Amino acid sequence: MRYISTRGKAPALSFEEAMLTGLARDGGLYVPETWPELSRAEIAAFAGLSYQDVALRVMMPFMGDTFTHGEFHDIIARAYGSFAHQAICPISQLSHNDFLLELFHGPTLAFKDVAMQLIGQMFEASLKRRGERLTIVGATSGDTGSAAIEAFRGSQAVDVFVMYPHGRVSEVQRRQMTTPSEANVHALAVDGDFDDCQARLKDMFNDFDFRDGVRLAGVNSINWARVMVQVVYYFTSAVALGAPYRSVSFTVPTGNFGDIFAGYVAKRMGLPIERLVIATNQNDILHRTLQNGGHTKEGVTPSISPSMDIQVSSNFERLLFDLYDRQGTAVAQVMDDLSAKGTFQLSQGALSKLHDEFDSGRASESETSASIAAIVKYTGQVLCPHTAVGVKVAADARGAVATPMVTLATAHAAKFPDAVEAACGVRPALPPHMADMYDRPERITRVANDLAAIEAVVRERVRT
Ligand SMILES: *Cc1c(COP(=O)(O)O)cnc(C)c1O
Repeated sequence: MRYISTRGKAPALSFEEAMLTGLARDGGLYVPETWPELSRAEIAAFAGLSYQDVALRVMMPFMGDTFTHGEFHDIIARAYGSFAHQAICPISQLSHNDFLLELFHGPTLAFKDVAMQLIGQMFEASLKRRGERLTIVGATSGDTGSAAIEAFRGSQAVDVFVMYPHGRVSEVQRRQMTTPSEANVHALAVDGDFDDCQARLKDMFNDFDFRDGVRLAGVNSINWARVMVQVVYYFTSAVALGAPYRSVSFTVPTGNFGDIFAGYVAKRMGLPIERLVIATNQNDILHRTLQNGGHTKEGVTPSISPSMDIQVSSNFERLLFDLYDRQGTAVAQVMDDLSAKGTFQLSQGALSKLHDEFDSGRASESETSASIAAIVKYTGQVLCPHTAVGVKVAADARGAVATPMVTLATAHAAKFPDAVEAACGVRPALPPHMADMYDRPERITRVANDLAAIEAVVRERVRT
């Protein structure tokens, strides 16, 4: 399996190279040359298997000869040993035909752990074999950063730097990034919003001197390996609900479009998914795109679901590549328009293909709070605000959908205790093993929203 860039001008890479590289050198994102397909019989045979076994079968076709079957089996076992639930990503029920896919049982209580714990193990195995070391720089709206730090803390081969928007993440999110004491992890508070952090990260990748000098790698959701790992739970949950004999729909609280794109990949691989519903908060660029085909940036308005406070959904470029029949030049053109003018218009053909696969909806702040309160009342479950956005949008989409509807529960409510308590009167508690988080000292480096300043901090701190 080879990986090609969505902008068509970077060399094709193996899985291992694409994983260790992150962003392509032409500014594009790596995608597999073709979508591997699983037969109905292969999918049916997932019933009753462990999460780890399904993971092995879903991901092997993407990996070429990076790891042997046996090596990858052991990597998966190590990665998910850190989860607090045996099923890894269990489903729970909201009403007769509505379900939650609980993705928050990893060490930082958000779905980012599902991919990041595995990526940490894959990087370690691969770098050890190659005798190499890397610097990982990430940008986070709150959850990716801590997940990356958890995945790489104490690594001999990797230094990790995480940029987060100063003052715009929850206290739990911040403490998860700033309290690990290992010398190879660094939390950088940037004076800007998440899109600024993400833009500086892209700038770093495009500064080839810097990139090569520190051996820069990325584990943001622009890294193909992240998306690939997330494909697995669409299979496990759909099979538990009757696939491949029955179709299933998913509603996904969406920011950077990585998680829902993994659902699209599962569908391309043969999983019978009826609808994929994009759920956004008031930062609703994707919802507006589905409505009129215009993809137009507006400012980011902070919300109670901060991990979705995004206007530049990087992974949307991967979908654009398919919507434009895998023509890299067409993708490069619309992405150039987006950076020059802050907007592009989808072609009629691209928009109608988008509508073939996806629906969308948005939840305002008050709708999100009302959704938290309603679910506590009707089920006793306490949702995080991101999940609540999903549940609200799923309910709106419900009318047109007869299949089971699975909403991805992307974080544990205890990551956002203030918003949750304000919405429903219940203050969600951290799991016991994290209860001392408020007592541990924090280490934070405050930096300007300035490429040179950030690069200087990284250069100074990397171990050589
Ligand atoms: C990252 C995140 C999202 C958005 O996921 P994307 O893959 O960026 O679309 C939603 N909810 C939570 C809790 C997150 O951490």
